[in-house]
Amino acid sequence: MFKKILIANRGEIALRVQRACREMGIKAVMVYSEADRDAKYVRLADESVCIGPAASGQSYLNMPAIISAAEVTDAEAIHPGYGFLSENADFAERVEQSGFTFIGPSPESIRLMGDKVSAKQAMIRAGVPCVPGSEGALPDDPVVIKRTAKAVGYPVIIKAAGGGGGRGMRVVHTEAALLHAVQTTKAEAGAAFGNPEVYMEKFLQNPRHIEIQVMADTHRNAVYLGERDCSMQRRHQKVIEEAPAPGIPRRLIEKIGERCAAACKKIGYRGAGTFEFLFENGEFYFIEMNTRVQVEHPVTEWISGVDIVRTQIAVAAGEKLPFTQRQIQLRGHAIEVRINAEDAYKFTPSPGRITTWHMPGGPGVRVDSHAYANYFVPPNYDSMIGKIIVHGDTREQALARMRTALAETVIEGIKTNIPLHRELMVDASFVTGGTNIHYLEEWLSQRER
Ligand code: ADP
Repeated sequence: MFKKILIANRGEIALRVQRACREMGIKAVMVYSEADRDAKYVRLADESVCIGPAASGQSYLNMPAIISAAEVTDAEAIHPGYGFLSENADFAERVEQSGFTFIGPSPESIRLMGDKVSAKQAMIRAGVPCVPGSEGALPDDPVVIKRTAKAVGYPVIIKAAGGGGGRGMRVVHTEAALLHAVQTTKAEAGAAFGNPEVYMEKFLQNPRHIEIQVMADTHRNAVYLGERDCSMQRRHQKVIEEAPAPGIPRRLIEKIGERCAAACKKIGYRGAGTFEFLFENGEFYFIEMNTRVQVEHPVTEWISGVDIVRTQIAVAAGEKLPFTQRQIQLRGHAIEVRINAEDAYKFTPSPGRITTWHMPGGPGVRVDSHAYANYFVPPNYDSMIGKIIVHGDTREQALARMRTALAETVIEGIKTNIPLHRELMVDASFVTGGTNIHYLEEWLSQRER
């Protein structure tokens, strides 16, 4: 096992990884930007290295600075967390070329999945169902583009091969709008992602977002840890996540889960990963794979009993997965809400000093956050400052625990989206379960009126 790991991230996930290290008897090196100098998790680290100014381009995305920090502190492995460099194949490659272990999949796997066209082709070969659409990238020939759209059936969505974070997508309803939409998306994709390639998919009208968590080792073992429902989204950003997904028959989950685990073996995947699907009319359609730990991993940890971060570290060190598929028994129901430093309804960011920080507790409540009273939320990064996760024997119990937890929570000094979560936890449709990916946006626009 590693003796020392460098954590190349910030905020709650940096603390989450640090906790796993401590539990495993591994020393944790934190890198931090000038904006995070005073963060408690930086003080708590065994060692810490400032890697640059607040701007993430010069700190958390600064590959040479991070690699030299690993060199000077004699770390053996680098955990990238999520966001920042976690899905950057060049970074993974440079980490390994510098003699460190990258806690994640191989650069080849990251590259394969980072290009949505190659990812989709690999999934089709591996027998994972995908959204019907163009075979690979769209060619330039307008006749072929029109013929493809006709075959797929309108509405279609044009998506950038290099897209991410909900950007680089355009829905097309009629043939008249098609060619212009393809040209514009190509131009935008070239400018934003350095890759003008686009592809076409059928635009699904009312899908749910269901994802499958997988874990694989370097001994050809791959296991799926059930699903998560992340349909409560705003601007393609997840707001609430839960596991299991309400109302989906277990045999459907098992079937798709087995496909995902088999696909991992086929592509030689290692570490934690997530297969994201749109789910409509009882069918799963692959949209993309995330090759890292995700924000919402705690809901899966709670129902499966697997410590995902610890397992990531163990398999990166070459250990076998400590469980088989048959040993994974999902229990109860877990719900996570993301706490954002923002206006609950206008969504304007609200950085600044937290004056009061009172977190909930009691049975079935977990809080993952790096914040505390007197913590200053820097304006330079994502607005998420933590997560409240609850577990219950049933979804009803989990909902009741979340309501209680949110009622106990007090955060003052900055604005947060806690009031939004309090409202959603008593919303009739959310309480029933199974809302689609448009539900939250529609709910918000109704509320404005
Ligand atoms: P990104 O990497 O930018 O997150 P995704 O491919 O995961 O891109 O898609 C993001 C979101 O866009 C999905 O969660 C869904 O809301 C919407 N979307 C993507 N593809 C389709 C599709 N074929 N039909 C309907 N909605 C889609």
